[in-house]
Amino acid sequence: MADFCTVGAGFSGAVIARELADAGHTVDVFDDRSHTAGNCHTERDVDSGVMIHRYGPHIFHTDSERVWSYLKRHTEFMPYTNRVKTTSGGRVFSLPVNLLTINQFFGKTFSPSEAREFIESQADLSIEDPITFEDQALRFVGRDLYEAFFKGYTQKQWGCSPTELPASILKRLPVRFNYDDNYFFHKYQGMPREGYTAIVDQILDHPNITLALNTRFSRQQTSDYEHVFYSGPLDGFFDYELGRLGYRTLDFKEIRAEGDYQGCAVMNYGDESVPYTRIAEHKHFSPWEEHAKTVCFEEYSRACGEDDIPYYPIRLANEQAMLRDYIALAEKEDGVSFVGRLGTYRYLDMDVTIAEALAAAEAFIDLRAANRQIPAFFVSPV
Ligand code: FAD
Ligand code: UDP
Repeated sequence: MADFCTVGAGFSGAVIARELADAGHTVDVFDDRSHTAGNCHTERDVDSGVMIHRYGPHIFHTDSERVWSYLKRHTEFMPYTNRVKTTSGGRVFSLPVNLLTINQFFGKTFSPSEAREFIESQADLSIEDPITFEDQALRFVGRDLYEAFFKGYTQKQWGCSPTELPASILKRLPVRFNYDDNYFFHKYQGMPREGYTAIVDQILDHPNITLALNTRFSRQQTSDYEHVFYSGPLDGFFDYELGRLGYRTLDFKEIRAEGDYQGCAVMNYGDESVPYTRIAEHKHFSPWEEHAKTVCFEEYSRACGEDDIPYYPIRLANEQAMLRDYIALAEKEDGVSFVGRLGTYRYLDMDVTIAEALAAAEAFIDLRAANRQIPAFFVSPV
């Protein structure tokens, strides 16, 4: 039996296991899936040779020097810039909303300052402090762009009206008054040459780490270890005894074709009448590769059932109340820390996941050396 264990061989579990192994400890890593890398798992499609992102498109982006250099120790990153298009009302536009989007949508040739003035004239300035997603959109882009690009998409993605969602979801997207169509504004962005699973396998490749795939960890096993880092679902650890935290899940409908299907990696669909939110064409995530065939996935979002894979935590008022109750339970549990996107019930990008995992392992090693209590959460889930 090892000293410690991590539940989950995604970035959270793998990074923590490696840090502990490097510090001289033995670590067991469990994952109930047949592969490593969790939701970031990539695999080469046998028929086309295309690198597939099995659980949806993943583009790495970060401002963190530490995370960027950590990952570059484990893989080669290729230059990649995420440029998203959207189809709305039978026309194609550039996202995030930028000067090209505004000029095309309104049939204008605005300069940056003219566009800014125009959008301000469209905006609902009476909304001083936007609380809901819809308020945020009406305040910053106005009704026309909101209805074309955000209203239908968001309804499909979250299964509820944008009036019920927090403004914070839309704040993730910029509005630009220039022609910059880079979806992200981070300093580093790229795609691992051999995919994400190869990175995680490299991270886990250490003589002190024992990996058990297809192996479900249950609460009763906690006492087998001095300490457990659990990156599975928080409610699942407690066998859902207080109910289920709400998630959205995704269904992927595969499309196979010859050549180039849609000419870009990600095409969003703003109209509510189109049932999927977007189509991802995976060979465009590896633009340095050439493949005659192509594989795409239409993405359908729906409420997560008991046997579905949880993707996006919903975190509305009901879930927040249940979350607090689960936190209270977790804080009474000995020998376990809850980490990662499922363990802390938060949407986390990969870079944040890795930064938090590095920090958790570091804090753990220090606290243990000082004989101090190890917290249930290194980062508060609320
Ligand atoms: P996970 O990857 O979910 O790993 C947890 C693992 O634990 C899973 O394999 C699970 O099966 C296993 N497990 C759970 N319970 C148990 C148990 N009891 N016993 C054994 N194993 C268990 N981030 C970006 O930075 N860029 C992107 O472009 C991006 N795109 C995304 C697109 C989608 C559709 C989604 C949903 C997320 C995206 N993300 C993206 C976020 C990214 O997926 C997460 O940051 C990352 O997966 C978090 O890693 P994790 O290890 O915490 O969790
Ligand atoms: N969104 C939208 N239309 C789009 C893209 C995004 O309405 O074409 C909304 C949607 O509600 C989404 C949010 O903006 O959840 C944040 O966008 P992001 O691209 O960060 O979505 P995610 O990565 O969470 O899928």
